[in-house]
Amino acid sequence: MVGIKRRTFLKTLVGSATAVALPSLQSVIAQTEYPVGNSRLSIISDGHLVLPAEFIQPPNISAKDFNALKPELNLKENLYQPDCNITLWKSGDRNVLFDVGAGENFMDSTGRLLSNLEAAGISAEDVTDVVISHAHPDHLWGLVDDFDELVFYNAEHHVHQIEWDYWWSDSAINDMPDSRKVFALGAKTRFAYLEDTVRLFRDGEEFIPGVQAIFTPGHTPGHCSFRVYQQNASAVIVGDALLHPLLAFSPNQWLSGSDQNPLQAQNTRKRLLDQLSQDNSPLVGYHLPYPGLGYAEKRGKAAYDFVPIKS
Ligand SMILES: [Zn+2]
Repeated sequence: MVGIKRRTFLKTLVGSATAVALPSLQSVIAQTEYPVGNSRLSIISDGHLVLPAEFIQPPNISAKDFNALKPELNLKENLYQPDCNITLWKSGDRNVLFDVGAGENFMDSTGRLLSNLEAAGISAEDVTDVVISHAHPDHLWGLVDDFDELVFYNAEHHVHQIEWDYWWSDSAINDMPDSRKVFALGAKTRFAYLEDTVRLFRDGEEFIPGVQAIFTPGHTPGHCSFRVYQQNASAVIVGDALLHPLLAFSPNQWLSGSDQNPLQAQNTRKRLLDQLSQDNSPLVGYHLPYPGLGYAEKRGKAAYDFVPIKS
């Protein structure tokens, strides 16, 4: 795309006057850096979600037992408030962004990606690739700005073939409960901006040098995780395949109420956790406590501990 973006132009035009007039953002941590060979992962916060605790109630547990578990699950005031951790991978001349956050109109507590990227010295035009893990609002709705333009306008946009096909299909809306039909409409509306330019990839494909797709379905039909590697080092960006630091890491014990297909997601978690612990691979979880970086350490037969990497 040629020429200056309207967003950039307006920002330049009004300059610091706008910055002063805007309400101050809630305090968020701008970034955490982690090396992968000579490349770097930066974890940039998009803020956090505010949801009722029942959002993550496992379908295989009674309301009474779930209530008793709430303190251990860190569900204060009956709310589930997970962080939203967006990974930026800087390798050579590429800046690869994994998911684009919720945008400015989803929740008051989200939509911090652009300001935090800027605080980290990265502007939207510097992003060379955008990779989408799945099409839920908190991962995709930041794709387009208020001027109906792609926020990361210089970037190639990459989506898994199955996720792309699913959200275009009639069943995406028809199968969705009423409370979530807006997810399907929102996904279709955003995908429409990519219709002519999207790069579709498949399971196992190295679709960007050093980025390989690991198909992890269940949370959505085409949910995908990603291994990034450089020299002999690697890390896995797991998106929403591992949602909660306790529930998700005990895959034999718990199903997750927020997964579209809980049984498929449970199998995915077993496979993924087994691989991550065997490889002793660092992982980044989108909703694990910021920055969401850590290891899956095997504790028993099929349970794991999330061991955060201290930054
Ligand atoms: Zn999410």
